[in-house]
Amino acid sequence: MDYTAAERAALPRREQALARLRAETFDVLVIGGGITGAGIALDAASRGLRVALVEKGDYASGTSSKSTKLIHGGLRYLKQLDVALVREVGQERAAVHRLAPHLVQPEKMFIPILENGQMGYWTTNVALLVYDALAGVKGADRRRMLDREEALAAEPMLRADWVEGGAIYAEYRTDDARLTIENLKTAAAYGAVCANYVEATGLIKEGGKVCGVEVVDALAGDGAAPFELRAAVTVNAAGPWVDAVREIDGSLRGKKLFHAKGVHLVVPRERFPVRQSIYFDLPDGRMCFAIPRDRATYFGTTDTPYEEHLDSVHVTPADVDYLLDGVNRIFPELELRPDEIESSWAGIRPLIHEEGKSASEISRRDEIFESESGLLSIAGGKLTGYRKMAERIMDRVAERLDLDAATDTDTTQIALAGNGFADTRDVDDFREEVGLLLAEYDLPQARAGYLVHVYGKQVLDILRLVPPEGSPELRLAVGELAFAIEREQVATLEDWAVRRSGRLYFDRAALDELLPALSLAYAELAGESEAAREGELSDLRALSRRHYDFGAVPA
Ligand code: FAD
Repeated sequence: MDYTAAERAALPRREQALARLRAETFDVLVIGGGITGAGIALDAASRGLRVALVEKGDYASGTSSKSTKLIHGGLRYLKQLDVALVREVGQERAAVHRLAPHLVQPEKMFIPILENGQMGYWTTNVALLVYDALAGVKGADRRRMLDREEALAAEPMLRADWVEGGAIYAEYRTDDARLTIENLKTAAAYGAVCANYVEATGLIKEGGKVCGVEVVDALAGDGAAPFELRAAVTVNAAGPWVDAVREIDGSLRGKKLFHAKGVHLVVPRERFPVRQSIYFDLPDGRMCFAIPRDRATYFGTTDTPYEEHLDSVHVTPADVDYLLDGVNRIFPELELRPDEIESSWAGIRPLIHEEGKSASEISRRDEIFESESGLLSIAGGKLTGYRKMAERIMDRVAERLDLDAATDTDTTQIALAGNGFADTRDVDDFREEVGLLLAEYDLPQARAGYLVHVYGKQVLDILRLVPPEGSPELRLAVGELAFAIEREQVATLEDWAVRRSGRLYFDRAALDELLPALSLAYAELAGESEAAREGELSDLRALSRRHYDFGAVPA
């Protein structure tokens, strides 16, 4: 597919996708619409296979909207001496960057070297040298070591008497939910049939072998009859729910998942004005990221075992205390308070259990489990490695289906939806152009960076959908919303507010103000009844509140 086709890729409306799911049979059926499932759908569809994907909530509503949003080589794996993993994910960063240079952007990361920190000057120097070599980092992107003065100049808010030096090295940042949706749209352009709010509730077996799944349309109301989807191979890419699907299969034996919760907090940029992304030690030795993004800075993460309900993962006051305490100790002038938190998220790492190891020590490698019924499950891994994970599991599927070489694919060459760029410089030029266009449309020019990094070339289509009436911020939001309804299968206003635009995380206060008008616009665009609109608005307000008021957790 060429770049122009990638720019226009879209998911069909949900009803159309459901009609096709009911009518067709498939070669590959994917359970789970997070980054892992999305990557598999694209790999499979680009091999010319008939592919279906079902997601029980919204796309990326599991872990794939709750990560640190970095495409990174995993410096910490070096501490675990997992050289092969560092090499693979390190090289993979550059590959994923090329698939969507607007969405996977190079980012210089600063590590302060602190007195009594995890790594001293020389260990950091050698670790980063090895890291760059394994990942094939070249030229000006190679690590640069800083002395104490340079480190303090790089980040003057650090506690000066603890700083001994620093280092700057290259990583990439992204938006996890957008990366998922662009993979799905690109998969759809190759013919994959994807539907959100469709839950796999049972497996269909013939002669003990899985030949499809029973699914329920979660938006069809209580008592909706399940229907069957038939496929030659079923792949379980359900992230933290992988074991729940294995349980349905009756194959939950041997290795199991270990769930570890990770929390991020968001504050207005002016309250945590880091000069660049920074990766620092917390007092208990865990490492924490602080990353500036648009009007906000987010930081995290925690890493604690999680055994509660996977469908309602919350940030607790204890999580908030832990992160604020750590940040305030290392940046003493900040004095961040819980009431200054604008937003937050909590996600579950679907790790593979290793006897006697803590959440932070467990390897982030992915693994494939094949059950007697033929169900293929994939778990563990990282956002960063999604393309390689998809390739690995689809090579297994290709073997199973006895596919010939003609169906081989190379997903490093498939530009993701929204990409029409030669390189990062091209993205920068486009941002300038978009700034001028926004002025022409009487829209906020300051939004150019956000729009380009979130949507890439698709910004041009959004601008065509911007209505003439309303405040500039509202008009822009309605344009984005109309685009998401048309091309990205949003089924609720929440889908857009949280996962398509990221506004609930990164611009929550402004979103709250726009919500009543946005809800009217959504109802009109999506043909929603007044009663449904009111219900949805009130749910969304409550959801928004739970992202900054940590006492407001529902029973
Ligand atoms: P998910 O995103 O959870 O997707 C699985 C999907 O399956 C869900 O959407 C779920 O609703 C659906 N599902 C479940 N059961 C069913 C069913 N029965 N029927 C239909 N659908 C079903 N990785 C990085 O590379 N970089 C980072 O910076 C990074 N930071 C992280 C920070 C935190 C705090 C956490 C928790 C993880 C982080 N990771 C990071 C790891 C990365 O986010 C995950 O590895 C990745 O998102 C997992 O994706 P997934 O698709 O496997 O799971």
